[in-house]
Amino acid sequence: MPVNATMTAPQKALRKLGLERDIDLALHLPLRYEDETRIVKLRDSREGDLVQIEATVTSCDIAYRPRRQLLVTVDDDSDTCVLRFFTFYPSLQKALAVGNRVRLRGELKGGFLGWTMMHPAIKPAGGELATALTPVYPTVAALPQAYLRKVVLSGLARADLSDTFPPGVTQQLRPQVWPLQDALRFLHQPTPDVSLGTLEDKTHPAWQRLKAEELLAQQLSQLESKRERAALRSPAFALTAGGIHSQLLDALPFKLTLAQQRVCKEIAQDIAREMPMHRLLQGDVGSGKTVVAALAAAIAIDAGWQCALMAPTEILAEQHFRKLIGWLEPLFVARGLRVAWLTGSQKKKERNEMLALVASGEAALVVGTHAVIQDHVVFKRLGLAVIDEQHRFGVAQRLALRAKMSEPGHEPHLLMMSATPIPRTLAMSYYADLDVSTIDELPPGRTPIVTKVIADSRRDEVVERIRSQVAQGRQVYWVCPLIEESEALDLTNATETHEALSAALPGAMVGLLHSRMPPAEKKAVMSLFVGGQMAVLVSTTVIEVGVDVPNASLMVIEHAERFGLSQMHQLRGRVGRGSAASACVLLYSLGEYGKLSEMGRARLKAMAETTDGFEIARRDLEIRGPGEFLGARQSGAAMLRFADLATDVALLEWARALAPQMLDLHPELARRHAARWFGGKSEFLKA
Ligand code: ADP
Ligand code: MG
Repeated sequence: MPVNATMTAPQKALRKLGLERDIDLALHLPLRYEDETRIVKLRDSREGDLVQIEATVTSCDIAYRPRRQLLVTVDDDSDTCVLRFFTFYPSLQKALAVGNRVRLRGELKGGFLGWTMMHPAIKPAGGELATALTPVYPTVAALPQAYLRKVVLSGLARADLSDTFPPGVTQQLRPQVWPLQDALRFLHQPTPDVSLGTLEDKTHPAWQRLKAEELLAQQLSQLESKRERAALRSPAFALTAGGIHSQLLDALPFKLTLAQQRVCKEIAQDIAREMPMHRLLQGDVGSGKTVVAALAAAIAIDAGWQCALMAPTEILAEQHFRKLIGWLEPLFVARGLRVAWLTGSQKKKERNEMLALVASGEAALVVGTHAVIQDHVVFKRLGLAVIDEQHRFGVAQRLALRAKMSEPGHEPHLLMMSATPIPRTLAMSYYADLDVSTIDELPPGRTPIVTKVIADSRRDEVVERIRSQVAQGRQVYWVCPLIEESEALDLTNATETHEALSAALPGAMVGLLHSRMPPAEKKAVMSLFVGGQMAVLVSTTVIEVGVDVPNASLMVIEHAERFGLSQMHQLRGRVGRGSAASACVLLYSLGEYGKLSEMGRARLKAMAETTDGFEIARRDLEIRGPGEFLGARQSGAAMLRFADLATDVALLEWARALAPQMLDLHPELARRHAARWFGGKSEFLKA
C-alpha cells in the first residue's frame, strides 16, 4: 500500500517500522513486560522494583525547592511513599486529593527519607487487574504503546501461524521449543506465573522457537540464493602450460607458503567450473593475498578473458595492485595485452582511452576504484572480478560488478579479499552463501610485532624511540585519528604532530599525508616513503590498509582509544613485514572525564594481548555485536532480530543442517517459511 495523504501518523509509523502484514505484526515482539496483574505491598518491595501498589493519599502539596513540584505522600498500610511530579495539572492534584485511594505503578527508589516514586502512572484503586503481563513493544514516538498493542494483537489474531517446520523437527530440538502459534500468543501475553528471567534472557521455550524460526529462515534464503547462483553460468578456465600463470609462478621472488598454495588450488578449482565462484579469501594483514589474486587473474587472462580488480580508494588501489601489476605487465607485453586504470579523479581524455581499452578487450586487467563498476564501463569479456577489502564495499556495488557480463544469465567469477577474518558464527549465518578460503600462515622471516600501550603524557619517550629507529635506517608511521565530524580539527592534529616531529628529528625527512590532499600530492608523498627517502610518515588513516614497506619497523597510533579494533589491527600490520624487529605503540589520551571508555579500554587490551587476526575479530564481535561488526554497508543482509550468535550456536547449527534437507524434501514449506520471515525483503541477500 503506497503512502497516501489519508494515512494517520500511527499508520505511517507502522509502515516505517515495516509492520505491514498481519504476520509482521505477530512477529513484532515485546522488548520487556510490565506486571499489572498484582498489587504488592511496599514492605515486601525492593529498591528498583517496578511495582503496582494501592494506597491512600495522606498529603498533597506544591513545593518550590529545588524546583516547582507536586509532592504527594501515600500510605498502603505497610509503609509510606513519596510521589514527585515535576509536571502536573489541576486534574492530577484532583486525582491525588487527600483521602483518595489510588492505584500507582512505577519504579520504586529507596532514599534517605524512605520510598519515593517519580511520575508514577495513576488510576483509581479497585479496578480490575490484568490477567497477563503487559507487553512493552519497540516503537517510535508517533506510535503510542496502547495503540501498538491493539494492532499487534489484532494482527496476531488474523495471521496465519500454521507450522512451517517439517514434520518431526520440533520434537527433536533440545532445549525444547514450542509450536509457533503457542509461542507467539504466549510472548505477546505471557501468563503472570512465568519467570521473567527466562523471558528476558530469551531462554524460554517460546523464545527458543522464535530464534529457531528466524535462523532457519536466514539459512533458507542464503541457501536459495546460492542455488540460484549455481544456475547461472561463468566461463570455465582451465590451467594451461606455458601461459602467464606458469611464467608468473617461475618469476616470483619467493616460494608460496603452504597456505597460499592451498587457497590457490581452491580458487583454481572454482574457476575451472562453469558455476560462478563466490569466494572470500581471508588472511591476516601481510599474509600475502595479493599474489594469490594475481595468480587467479593470470589463469583467467590465459583463457582469454578480462579480470577486474577493485579497491575502495584510489590510494589503496594503487598500493594494493602496484606489485601485482609489476608482476603481470612484463608478461603481457609479448602478448599485446594492456593494463587499464579507472579512477574517479582521472582526466576525461585519459579515462576515454582507458574505456576504449576495456571495451576492445585489449586491457586484460582493469584496475581501479568504484569507477570500474560505473554504467559506462563496458567490458568485452569480463571473466573474473576481484574485490579487495570487500567489507568496505556495499551490497549494491557487488551486485553491479556481477552484472558486468554482457550475456544475460552469465556472470563473472567473484573473488573477495579481506584482512578482517569473519568469525565462525558470522560465516555460518550472514555469510552462509560464501565459500571461504583462509590463509592461516604468514610468509617466513617475519618477526613478531611487540605492542605497547602508552599514555600520551609519555610522548617524549616515543619520540626518542623514533629517533633511534631512524638512526638505524628504519622507517616509521605515525597515524592520527580521523574524526569524522571534524575534518578540520583532524587536520590540525596531524599538522601539529608533523611539525613537532620535524623539529625533533632534524636531518630526517618527515612527511605528511592526509585525506584532503589532491591525489597527485598523496602519490608523491607515498612514493617518497615507499622509496625509502622519507623516514617518518605522519598521516590520517589513509594508509589504513595495503601499504607495503618492509623497511618500516615502528607504527605509532595516536589517540588509539578512538580507533576501532580491526582498524588498529590493520594499521599494526603495516609493520613487521620485513626481517627487522618491529613494534606498535598505542598512544592513548584520557577523555574529558579523566578515564577511558570501557570499549576503548577493551580494544586496547585486546591489541596488547594478541596479534592473531582471528582472535581480534572474535573480540571485536564480542565488543561491538554483529550489527556493528557487519557495518552499515552490509545492512542489506537481513539482521537477526531475536537470535544471538554468541548464545545460539546450537540452534544455528541445527538450522544450517536442516535448511538443505528442507529445500530438497519440503520445498513448499521452505518457501512459505522464508516468505513469512522476510516477505519481499530478501532481494539483497543475493549479493
Ligand atoms: P596482504 O595479505 O595483507 O594483502 P600482501 O599481499 O600485501 O599481504 O603481502 C605482503 C608482503 O608479503 C608483500 O611484500 C608480498 O610480496 C610478500 N609475500 C607474499 N607472499 C610471500 C611468500 N610466500 N613469501 C615471502 N613473501 C611473500
Ligand atoms: Mg592486501
